Amino acid sequence: MKIGIVGCAGRMGRNLVRAVLAAEGVALAGGTETAGNPAIDEDVAVLVGESACGLTVGNDPAALFDAGDVVIDFTVPAAVIGHASLAARHGCALVVGTTGLASEQQEALAAAGEVVPVVQAANMSVGVNLLLGLTRQVAAILGDDYDIEIVEMHHRHKVDAPSGTALALGHAAAAGRGIALDAVSQRVRDGHVGSRRRGEIGFATLRGGDVVGDHTVVFAGDGERIEIGHRASSREVFARGAVRAAQWTAGRPPGLYSMRNVLGLE
Ligand code: NAD
Repeated sequence: MKIGIVGCAGRMGRNLVRAVLAAEGVALAGGTETAGNPAIDEDVAVLVGESACGLTVGNDPAALFDAGDVVIDFTVPAAVIGHASLAARHGCALVVGTTGLASEQQEALAAAGEVVPVVQAANMSVGVNLLLGLTRQVAAILGDDYDIEIVEMHHRHKVDAPSGTALALGHAAAAGRGIALDAVSQRVRDGHVGSRRRGEIGFATLRGGDVVGDHTVVFAGDGERIEIGHRASSREVFARGAVRAAQWTAGRPPGLYSMRNVLGLE
């Protein structure tokens, strides 16, 4: 199986190249970056400190989707529509970890999922996908006598907030209560906002330093508080998960799948 990496010079892109080079039974199909990126024309493996593989960083995504069996996208939301349509056109599976997608970008993934297998997850780590299941379960057991707050912290460069994982945890908690997150989510509190509404699911965002990704779901009741959480200490967990998702697409029918499908949790 040949795996291509769009955005291969990014923080996640570099980890993905390393993970593909280290994985058994897969080969690197190449990598792309935006025009003008200093990594263009550099050997993709040299870019990540490995010995040359003969593939250079390009800026022609169509050629990459043609060469690859599957392409992994951890870039920016604006790139996702183009990559989704190339995946469908070239019959190439797609794994998307990019977060902060707008509805039309999300719809483009659903459309590509009609033609090829697409795996999308805001967090590709095994631990967070277990946390999603636990959050749903705990929310269902406790009901809305317990106030749910989701706290996340990421490095200073992260551009979207709350994180895609925090929102996924919110959806999991809401699903446990049998409601839609949009009806109850409280994403920002500032000023004289009044007391907390019953049933609300709140979010708090912290940014700073080099934090890879911390998430805590707090269930606060009268007289007790339950907290479940996950801390990622290395981006490698996301990259390994994404490569596992890419391998899982082999021979799959078209569809829009989640990491929980890949891990057999759903
Ligand atoms: P980054 O800014 O370090 O890397 C993004 C890279 O994409 C950059 O090198 C940029 O030049 C490149 N890029 C942008 N547009 C492109 C295009 N059209 N074609 C090719 N390359 C393009 O960001 P990052 O920290 O690596 O995060 C990337 C995304 O992955 C974010 O949305 C982040 O939230 C998400 N993320 C997801 C997970 C997960 O497990 N799902 C984990 C970590 C990060």
